[in-house]
Amino acid sequence: MAPPMGGRGGRFLTDEEMENRPKVTKELLIRIFSYLKPYTKQFCLVLAAILISSIFNLLPSVLTGKIIDEGLIGRSMSKLVTFIVLSLLVTLAANLIGVLESYLNTWIAQHITFDMRNKMYLHLQKMSQRFFTTNNQGDIITRMTSDISGVQQIITSTLTSIISNSITLVVALVVMFQKNWILALIGLVVVPLFTIPTRSAGKTRWSITNESQACSDEINGILNETLSVSGQLLVKLFGREQHEYEKYEKVNKKMIDLNIRESMAGRWFRVVLSTFSSIGPMLLYLVGGILMMKFDSDLTVGDVSVLVALLSRMYGPVNQLLNIQVDWIRSMSMFTRIFSYFDMPVEIENAPDAITPTEVDGRVEFNNVGFYYDEERQILKDINFELESGKCVAIVGPSGSGKSTLVNLIPRLYDVTSGTVTFDDVDVRNLDLGFLRQHIGIVSQETYLFNGTIRDNLLYAKPDATEEELISACKQANIYDMIQNQEDGLDTLVGNRGLKLSGGEKQRISIARVLLKDPTIMIFDEATSALDSISEQKIQDAIEPLIESRTSILIAHRLSTILAADEILVIQDGVIAERGTHDELVGAGGVYTQLYETQFSKAMPAKDEPFEYTEGED
Ligand code: ATP
Repeated sequence: MAPPMGGRGGRFLTDEEMENRPKVTKELLIRIFSYLKPYTKQFCLVLAAILISSIFNLLPSVLTGKIIDEGLIGRSMSKLVTFIVLSLLVTLAANLIGVLESYLNTWIAQHITFDMRNKMYLHLQKMSQRFFTTNNQGDIITRMTSDISGVQQIITSTLTSIISNSITLVVALVVMFQKNWILALIGLVVVPLFTIPTRSAGKTRWSITNESQACSDEINGILNETLSVSGQLLVKLFGREQHEYEKYEKVNKKMIDLNIRESMAGRWFRVVLSTFSSIGPMLLYLVGGILMMKFDSDLTVGDVSVLVALLSRMYGPVNQLLNIQVDWIRSMSMFTRIFSYFDMPVEIENAPDAITPTEVDGRVEFNNVGFYYDEERQILKDINFELESGKCVAIVGPSGSGKSTLVNLIPRLYDVTSGTVTFDDVDVRNLDLGFLRQHIGIVSQETYLFNGTIRDNLLYAKPDATEEELISACKQANIYDMIQNQEDGLDTLVGNRGLKLSGGEKQRISIARVLLKDPTIMIFDEATSALDSISEQKIQDAIEPLIESRTSILIAHRLSTILAADEILVIQDGVIAERGTHDELVGAGGVYTQLYETQFSKAMPAKDEPFEYTEGED
């Protein structure tokens, strides 16, 4: 299930998509503010700081009136100096409080971001394989990084800006009305005229911002795909460099155009604003003058100066408040996207009364198991088999028949869509997930090693393993000789995703890793990729003792592996088409015979020659 991405995907926004901007509901706001809750005390301090600094910031404008009327016109040196000093002190205090406010603000924002990132990481870790196979990796990373950083923006700038600007506006208006209601009313009329240009500029910016965000996602996606190790390999091998470059250049160009448009949309807006902001004071001087000269008002020169000063202090907040619409909507869509991730149900989780057995036998049973990834296409149908403790089942079948899918149901990488999978007679869905996965070890087809040393990768399975344990696991996995030949031994770096090692070496390291985990059930998904016969033999030598010593399931592509099993299940089109031992199946003339003739026998002597391998053969 893909989350609603509203306007993402690199296309230009249509009008319809424009209308799909997030609805700011009470629930959404409550949810956003719930993240502030743990920091209520600090937030109250921020509010107090904003209140005081906003008022202090306005005081010098009010004091200007006194400086003019009582100091300059009243010709009083002491008052002049007092008001000037007071004005400076108030400004200094406002700025100092501003520093405290920014510190607290950043502190709160960082902590909220920290909480959200951790929560998201934990949530994503709980998401099923389905989530990671269906969602674009770039999108997931963007959610974790840019979107959550956007949260910081809304707290450090958007939220405080709304509060401080509103306070400034209210205080300024109160003072203006106290001074003279007519001039205050004129101020009130002039200021809202801004809404007209601001609205339209805001709208344009909103649409451009959305487009550039989608574009930036697209760029991230391209970079992620083509500059990754495997992506680069694919590009090189198919000679698609030029094609990829052109694709990248095209989006890059689009991004530049959008950035220019975004910056210019703001520029025109500022031209209109600055023109308006010079009209206001002139109007006040004019009307103030008329009132003083023609109507004998008791308005003083100082009062008019205060009104003009306050009016000019109002443009900034009004401008910012109206402009904030864009930031606000942008932040709201970020929150909506983040929450849509949080709201994605965790598909596979512990049952409320999950069982953690104390004794483990290691029996696995599939009862009428059915499974699909998408409802339209059933992958597994009516699978029934039993794996007794200590036994080994080999699963064979054509590519895409559902073999990996089947084994993935045991550690609950996916849940069955019908039937049950049991572990020691308990439905795996009722077992504690940690317990279940601790007892199942999988060596998958695609070996994944983290970028680090061989030792780091081995310790991943057992962080407290001793040197002896590491060496013993490596020896069992038939990789110790190779490690010993490396200059740094176990501390050899494996490179990004283990790419400094050969396929066979990686696989043997991953066998050693599973051995360290010491699972009750071993699942070995044999790589279909061709390995040279020496590598293959080494892997074979590593798995054979494993199979003998524990309950195991092998997805096998090589006869030698198949022969080691107690039972062979032949899967075709998601059903068990045949089952039995090699000898029973090979002559039956069914799917197995075909597979044997086309695939398995290649690795073996000619059909009429006796097999060398006898161990495990029934
Ligand atoms: P191979 O031998 O090539 O590894 P397999 O028998 O293990 O193949 P599976 O990997 O189990 O086959 O895949 C069975 C079917 O399910 C395939 O048709 C595949 O396209 C489909 N499939 C596998 N994984 C997914 C997924 N995550 N989402 C949707 N379909 C999937």
